[in-house]
Amino acid sequence: MPKAQETVLEINLKALKHNFEYLKSKLNTNTKFLAVVKAFAYGSDACEIAKYLQKLDVDYLAVAYVNEGVALRNAGITKPILVLHPQAVNFKLLIERCLEPSLYNAKILNEFIAVAQQEKQTSYPIHIKFNTGLNRLGFCEKDIDYITSKIAETSSIKISSIFSHLAASEDLNEKEFTLKQIESFKTISKNMIESLGYKPLLHICNTSGILNYPEAHLDMVRSGIGLYGFGNSEKENKNLKPVATLKSIISQIHHIEKGETVGYNRAFKSDGFLKTATLPIGHADGIGRQYGNGNGFVTINNKKALIIGNVCMDMIMVNITNIDCKEGDEVIIFGEKPSASIFAQTVNTISYEVITGVSQRIKRKLV
Ligand SMILES: *Cc1c(COP(=O)(O)O)cnc(C)c1O
Repeated sequence: MPKAQETVLEINLKALKHNFEYLKSKLNTNTKFLAVVKAFAYGSDACEIAKYLQKLDVDYLAVAYVNEGVALRNAGITKPILVLHPQAVNFKLLIERCLEPSLYNAKILNEFIAVAQQEKQTSYPIHIKFNTGLNRLGFCEKDIDYITSKIAETSSIKISSIFSHLAASEDLNEKEFTLKQIESFKTISKNMIESLGYKPLLHICNTSGILNYPEAHLDMVRSGIGLYGFGNSEKENKNLKPVATLKSIISQIHHIEKGETVGYNRAFKSDGFLKTATLPIGHADGIGRQYGNGNGFVTINNKKALIIGNVCMDMIMVNITNIDCKEGDEVIIFGEKPSASIFAQTVNTISYEVITGVSQRIKRKLV
């Protein structure tokens, strides 16, 4: 691998293929795979990731918002795209670009039907979301008759899938709750199918659902974090490979004497001789201020260098007193080692936040 010459997010498509195949190996051959590529494919590069997954013949893609789906269509993605949280103001555009909305309450269902009729659609594919305990988005069980009566009134839309989302699939202490969500979803979908007279696809599992609840894979699974290399457990993290590696370089090295300070607000005060390195990455790049003052670290020549002082907008300073390195050397923020989940733990967050937080000004590079 050539060494980084600036701050760069490397995206490893081989790792993506490995993760996709590993997750697929957990499924029955007739269970469909929906790849979640929202939020720039978890901070990597949604177009490149989606193009590659389309080549691997993924069944479905999902994004959160309409503009994310439009970007995929502009990049030549032809697979069906589920929009998890569309806003009514974008429904005309959504239809123009053949994106499929998740509809989760009466208001949004009626707003969508109105636009679909106005746009003279017939059997436009939609997805009905039920709330089974996350209490975020979704119809409840008692809405079934209302939904099916609305659907019966119009030929403009047709339900492609019925789905729900698990609240704690990664937490085996919450197994009882998760099983209750799965049961409740099964009852709801059975009643929906009876009332509709046809059977849409059923899905409830995210990545941890795939790994922990094989009995709940149903017709399709929705995986995000697993594709990018994280399984929400140490055991599963070993079976997956991180897709993204965030690298930087050393811009400058300073020799600091006892009593001198480093960075804004003079937050770090040295109590002895110290060597520091300044790196071209800061809070505007996704390294939040909480990583400063000795909490977070980077890796230089396989050694840990603590972030000292306050994180600046475009830079951090790290302690390299005991590291043999020079200006221009490569720095690893996260990747294979340390993983983004280890990096995340230094400030009590999770891999999801770290990888989605890498700002768009950092160059993406396919490797
Ligand atoms: C983000 C999201 C997923 C993906 O979850 P992972 O834990 O990343 O696999 C699946 N379903 C819904 C509704 C989501 O919002």
